[in-house]
Amino acid sequence: MSALAPFVRALASGDIDVIDLTAPLTSETPVLQLPEPFANTVPFTLREVSRYDDRGPAWYWNDIHTGEHTGTHFDAPVHWVTGAEGRDIAQVPATELLAPGVVLDFSAQSAADPDFLLSVDDVRGWEATHGPLPSGGWLLLRTGWDAYAHDAERYLNTDETGSHTPGISGDCARWLAEETDILGIGVETVGTDAGMAAGFTPPFPCHALLLGAGKYGLTQLQRLERLPATGTLIITAPLPIVGGSGSPARVLALVDRTA
Ligand code: MN
Repeated sequence: MSALAPFVRALASGDIDVIDLTAPLTSETPVLQLPEPFANTVPFTLREVSRYDDRGPAWYWNDIHTGEHTGTHFDAPVHWVTGAEGRDIAQVPATELLAPGVVLDFSAQSAADPDFLLSVDDVRGWEATHGPLPSGGWLLLRTGWDAYAHDAERYLNTDETGSHTPGISGDCARWLAEETDILGIGVETVGTDAGMAAGFTPPFPCHALLLGAGKYGLTQLQRLERLPATGTLIITAPLPIVGGSGSPARVLALVDRTA
């Protein structure tokens, strides 16, 4: 008996649907903007090497310029100082690149308040309806923020007080890091932390606490509204950049349409 054959048949028949959660990568892809005096990453750019011309008569190719944390991407533990002894992106085990995922939909709350923060009570309330967070799986936070990904200004939503985008509270980040065995968190915003998280305790708690606990982050996801709350398999494909702190990643969701 083949374990894979029924799976392949279900993919071919559409009983298993493949949803691409990845944002297209272009020079317009929003990139995190840190204030002075911090250094920032470059926008994604293509530099043409040749295009069926005297630089290469039969072939077209580009060099790419990108940050590790550009567009839909995967944060490795070593990205944060609290995870400095943890895994780099090339050290993430391949078996962890396929993992269950659940979607917590707080898009209505985020529409009402761009500074919405997911709390422990919110997660516990979700668990009361849907069951426990998946062991070794992703918590994907739906906020509806992917609707703005084509417009960097709207997406980053910055005013004189800072960036106003939804996320996860410091207490909830600590609880997820210390009291759950999730693989990591995935969000629709430019980073895993809320826009105002520089002022939280600790600053950037999702980065500090989750990466510090050896967990992972996924950002700039799209189309989470097409996923059921539970039962999804998430495939992430970051590049194995040796020593890298993260990587742009293709992220796919497999959804069972017969469930
Ligand atoms: Mn990142």
